[in-house]
Amino acid sequence: MEKILCVYCGDLFEPSPRHKNQTACKRPACQRAKKADWQRHKMKSDPAYRASQQISQKQWAAANPDYWKKYRKENPEKAVRNRVLQTVRNRKARAKRSDTKIKLPLIAKMDASKSDNFHALGQFWMIPVIAKMDALKVNIVRIPIRYP
Ligand SMILES: [Zn+2]
Repeated sequence: MEKILCVYCGDLFEPSPRHKNQTACKRPACQRAKKADWQRHKMKSDPAYRASQQISQKQWAAANPDYWKKYRKENPEKAVRNRVLQTVRNRKARAKRSDTKIKLPLIAKMDASKSDNFHALGQFWMIPVIAKMDALKVNIVRIPIRYP
């Protein structure tokens, strides 16, 4: 059988003859990504599924009340990341709700820039204030001073 490309990892794989329209190879990471895609689509398109998931999540949260508190304590960098991204989501929602929709022009095109082996001072999230763009993760580094 002819090999096809996995849409998640990009590697070639031999599809199963029993599964038509196969898009993912059998690697666990690709299968997880495929399931997450399916679930995301199902949450958007199926109100009954979405309602049952919400009920199920509420029951789980009631049974595990300290889970997120413990998770944030054990993963402080993820807690910060989520706080920043939630700020962005809140702004987008606020902008969508507001009657006076001000379209801000894109004033800068930003590409990822590569650095040499500089000493990393930390990792930060930049939240856009004047340009319309998503939050940007940046690494702040110390550039060594070179004396001639
Ligand atoms: Zn794959």
